[in-house]
Amino acid sequence: MPDIKQLSEEVANQISAGEVVERPASVVKELVENSIDADSDRILVEIENGGKDLIRVKDNGIGIEKENIEKAFSRYATSKIENISDLYSLNTLGFRGEALASISSVSKLTALSKAKEKLKGVKIVYHGGKQIKKETAACPEGTDIKVEDLFYNTPARYKYLKTKTTEFGHISKIITQESLSYPEIKFNLKHNNKNVLSTPGSGELKDTIYAIYGDEIFSKLNYLEFEDKYIKIEGYISDPSLTRSSRIHEMFFVNKRAVYSRTLSKAVESAYKGLISKNKYPIVFLFVKLNPILVDVNVHPAKKQIKFSRNKIIKSVVKEGIKEKLNELNPAVQYKVNNNKSYEDKVKDNEIKNDKNIKLDFSKDNITNKDLNTKNYKDSSNKNSNKYDTTNQNNRNNFNKNNNSSKDYKVVRNNNSNNLTIKNIFGQVFLSYILVETEKNLYIIDQHNAHERILYDNFYNKYKNGKNVSQKLLTPINLELTPSEIEIINNNQDQIKKLGFEYESFGGNSVLIQSVPEIISKKSVKNELREIIDKLINEDNIDNSADMISEMIEFMACRSAIKADEKLNNNEIKKIVVDLFDSSNPFRCPHGRPILIKMSREDIDRGVGR
Ligand code: ADP
Ligand code: MG
Repeated sequence: MPDIKQLSEEVANQISAGEVVERPASVVKELVENSIDADSDRILVEIENGGKDLIRVKDNGIGIEKENIEKAFSRYATSKIENISDLYSLNTLGFRGEALASISSVSKLTALSKAKEKLKGVKIVYHGGKQIKKETAACPEGTDIKVEDLFYNTPARYKYLKTKTTEFGHISKIITQESLSYPEIKFNLKHNNKNVLSTPGSGELKDTIYAIYGDEIFSKLNYLEFEDKYIKIEGYISDPSLTRSSRIHEMFFVNKRAVYSRTLSKAVESAYKGLISKNKYPIVFLFVKLNPILVDVNVHPAKKQIKFSRNKIIKSVVKEGIKEKLNELNPAVQYKVNNNKSYEDKVKDNEIKNDKNIKLDFSKDNITNKDLNTKNYKDSSNKNSNKYDTTNQNNRNNFNKNNNSSKDYKVVRNNNSNNLTIKNIFGQVFLSYILVETEKNLYIIDQHNAHERILYDNFYNKYKNGKNVSQKLLTPINLELTPSEIEIINNNQDQIKKLGFEYESFGGNSVLIQSVPEIISKKSVKNELREIIDKLINEDNIDNSADMISEMIEFMACRSAIKADEKLNNNEIKKIVVDLFDSSNPFRCPHGRPILIKMSREDIDRGVGR
């Protein structure tokens, strides 16, 4: 039997350093966060060769007293918490008391510190965890820590470091995040003696963003702020026209702590879906404030990951908040929560005239006022605009109350600039667009996006009102599935059924599909089913959330909608325009893509120099 020995503190520190200190950027993060916790308002960071040779963090905070300094460098020694319950009311970044011990065990570290109102400071030196020196020293108030030759005594770790440029990239991201999170602190970052980043410390987030990202990017960012029962969100999000090819500028802060969060990334990306192309990512600085009880920061020693206890709610609040902001960016529209009346109900209540009753003569070049019975549309849109409140404040409140029924927005026909009263429909151009004249504008309508919106609205309204959305197949379809697909289907029977699918198990891994959602195009039921199952499988949380259901409906609407380069007959053209103008949002498809291009009389006059 080999002997069982207690590890020396030195070795134990080196082992735990493996978790806390992954690379130079981790050292920077730990030291800077200590400086922040020490109430500093100036933090200077100097790096040499990507942090491999030198990392120096100097602050003007409260400092460490000479009698405490050795404690600061021993493991599990912290001034920040006493009990585990303190974690739930944490207001410091550090709490584990292991950073200084870990860092000093894998580098050559020199600390100089002077506590406030002390005459003398202290200097302490560690090499590979061994204390080399401790003496009284003259120095300014605050703490100045130099970390040289990181991983010099752990060659295996040193080998894993990437190039200086890559390592410095990680460092600069850390400093960017910390300075965004603490705009009241003046940060300076130097690399090989060159000033790389400095922030004004004015206390304003926007000044900090401006200082780091510059005018061009700043001008494409939009401030947003919203809150819900559980959380408050504030920050900046980029116009869909400004994207990056990695997630590096998607930054999330939860209770001021910079974090990685798949939940938040997914929420943001699904809000932008359809507005930016695949594999592109927005620039987002999102500050989430929530009761600390709802978030666990102690998932990982480096404290980069967090766990939310209300994952789904947080995801949907963030997604809808961003979506709403993105929709507002379309200057032509404002949104308002719907009165929940479906299209059919409005027809029944005579609020709008069913377009099926309108007869058109398509032998003429175009469709005229009279043909379209314009008056009816005018009346209905006026009625609508009386009913809907246009103030933003109210939108905000309504949104907060109804955040889980995000699809129920209604367009407010504001300022008459968007008065969608049809005057003329000129038909199809390029087999893809429909031209329409209204009182003030010429609209070019994308037929696919428009049809997607119409299909989505119809189906969603029916679904929401519990109406039958299912259509029987003439010949049932037999689908072979894998065991995990069968499991997904079985676990989600209720939702799948509610969406309009009817099927029975056909023994083994086969199911026999008898009915499908009426929105599915009959041409390729089988393919679509497979895609829907794939989509279900790829969803992280399959649940009954409004989110998932509406994504499914979006998906089916997109698949079934008329495509570009498809010839439409005149009745189809008319139906699309009429249904679109009556839809919940004629300006954007359910994915968020624009449906209309608007040209006013003035635009055209200006264009020809009139
Ligand atoms: P933690 O931050 O989790 O408490 P650390 O090992 O990072 O653990 O630091 C240990 C202790 O050293 C801190 O609790 C704090 O009291 C002190 N300390 C570290 N850095 C500084 C600093 N820059 N200024 C003042 N005190 C510091
Ligand atoms: Mg710390």
